[in-house]
Amino acid sequence: MNSMIEACPACGADRSVHLAAKPGRFLPYHGLELEVPEDLEVPECESCGERFWGPKELDAVEVALDAAYRAEMQRRAIELLAKLEAANISQRRLERVLQLSQGYLSKIRSKETPSVALLSELVLIAEEPEARLASLERFWSTPNRAKGRAKASA
Ligand SMILES: [Zn+2]
Repeated sequence: MNSMIEACPACGADRSVHLAAKPGRFLPYHGLELEVPEDLEVPECESCGERFWGPKELDAVEVALDAAYRAEMQRRAIELLAKLEAANISQRRLERVLQLSQGYLSKIRSKETPSVALLSELVLIAEEPEARLASLERFWSTPNRAKGRAKASA
């Protein structure tokens, strides 16, 4: 490893910044903490641990984290769908209540990345599937009369 910079811009240690590739480096990405690929070389100070992300490293990490993000969102969705399936909740019923097109949840199992909103809904429903789904079904089947009555009595 060659010294890249004379002195670390963060701590001032002399000749301490080198390219490092190692596991255990995490970055926040759209709300998730994701691991930077072990083999991605990033300039790092051996003295204070500060990392220096240049445009080249940022481009490489963006590509890697985007793929990791999609895989992790999909993994979590599949786990929740399996939990709901085990609780005898049909995919079609979920799709109806969540106003998703028929077959959309199958796409998530194969390739689609679920949105944060959809994943959040699945988390809440999976905690108490029957009660939460019944509550949503009631909410969406309530006729739109309440508004008119409130207006008339005001
Ligand atoms: Zn340093």
